[in-house]
Amino acid sequence: MKKIETEILVLGGGLAGTASALSARKSGNRVALVCKDGGASAMSSGALDIAGDILAITSKPEHWRTDIAENLEEILIRNPEHPYHLLGDSGEKVLSQIKTAFEMVFPSSAGFLQGDFARNQKVFNQMGTFKLTAFFQQHMLTLDDLLNAEHATLINFPELNDFDGEFFKKNFEYWSSRLDAKTRLSILNANPGINSSLSCLEFAKFIEQNTEQILEKLDANLKKISSQILVLPPVLPGRKRLQILENLKQASGANVRELLALPPSVAGKRLQDYLEDSLKFAGVEKLWAKAVSFKCDGKKIISVQAQNRFDQMEIFAHKFILASGSFLAGGLTKLGEFKESIFGLEVFSNSHPIGKIFTEKLTGLNISAPHPVFSLGVKTSSDQRPIGSDARIVFENLFAAGSILSGANYIFDGTGAGVALATGLSAEEKASKL
Ligand SMILES: Cc1cc2nc3c(=O)[nH]c(=O)nc-3n(C[C@H](O)[C@H](O)[C@H](O)COP(=O)(O)OP(=O)(O)OC[C@H]3O[C@@H](n4cnc5c(N)ncnc54)[C@H](O)[C@@H]3O)c2cc1C
Repeated sequence: MKKIETEILVLGGGLAGTASALSARKSGNRVALVCKDGGASAMSSGALDIAGDILAITSKPEHWRTDIAENLEEILIRNPEHPYHLLGDSGEKVLSQIKTAFEMVFPSSAGFLQGDFARNQKVFNQMGTFKLTAFFQQHMLTLDDLLNAEHATLINFPELNDFDGEFFKKNFEYWSSRLDAKTRLSILNANPGINSSLSCLEFAKFIEQNTEQILEKLDANLKKISSQILVLPPVLPGRKRLQILENLKQASGANVRELLALPPSVAGKRLQDYLEDSLKFAGVEKLWAKAVSFKCDGKKIISVQAQNRFDQMEIFAHKFILASGSFLAGGLTKLGEFKESIFGLEVFSNSHPIGKIFTEKLTGLNISAPHPVFSLGVKTSSDQRPIGSDARIVFENLFAAGSILSGANYIFDGTGAGVALATGLSAEEKASKL
């Protein structure tokens, strides 16, 4: 078995784990990160929510409140269990921590994201509806883009089996006029030269391998359009995205915009690629393996054992940051009872430990209320060390961050990325004080 030694071991390579690892590197610490796959960050829409309108579920979209600071205050007041409380005792302090974390992981020079900390924007998705979010990848179609555009053209690839141009147009026209944009949409069917039907994700791979050929085919068609905006389905491959957008802009003379996708999406994949590049650039040792067990001496964790197809490894560290996500990523599991997967930590719904008994209560579905299963997770002390049902810290050198924390519901409160990034940073800061 391979033996690895480090100062800090981060378990998980999503938004939370990346924030923890980058923060550790910034303070000059030796850090390793073990990660088995992409997790929720890679599966998500690739947009980054900070604070949505928690009353949105009961109000009309034109009335959704977009002010991030106000939404944040409301979340903190209405939900005393929300992990944002771990960041500070006022909305102002919490927002300031969120900003620091965002700016560390997405420094403005990187040019990857668009958006701001003041208000949520309406970003159109592949269904022709929209998502309210704080940050999204550059050149995505927003309501603001439409307010000054009379005419847009959608490039439709009829071979896509999860994007339907006519369906998109119907919803898009309904929603854009309801939100006071009067943009007319034309559809331009393009023939990229494929004979089978593909998903947007598969088509993105095809474009990556055949970029020149596809751009050439599109070029002749684009000369004919006279729209202010050219809209693309969510099909742009990560590393060639900006080059393709620029070529299409030159060929059409229009502003080129891509649609947000429903998960799993190319934008989620691009987000994950971005996080991986950031870790590489910062010199974080990333180990692709699944953490399966651990050794401890009383309340102190000594090492974590991890394995992949080729290797078994034991990673020794002084401090451990658990950022292994929720159910989708495998951080939480329900095998007989709800448990955290690596250290066997207890799982809570609000302040109640779940174990076996709460399962029935969790399934009482009320369609207009947030489902409790989305806010399950581990509970921590204020310094982000997991606690048990006796309210005691379980391991003195283990800290938790991200969607594994109980109390947030990313669907209902729109805090997914904000919680992951900011608690990722704060977990490392708290660990470094130990
Ligand atoms: C379908 C979907 C759509 C979403 N859409 C949005 C959105 O539009 N906007 C938004 O802000 N939020 C969204 N969210 C929520 C947001 O993506 C998550 O809250 C956030 O990405 C969580 O980040 P994380 O780092 O805590 O966990 P994850 O991103 O889930 O990362 C967990 C990491 O832990 C690793 N891991 C787990 N177990 C082990 C193990 N045993 N050994 C090694 N590694 C392990 C995984 O491989 C992964 O790398 C969405 C979530 C889902 C599921």
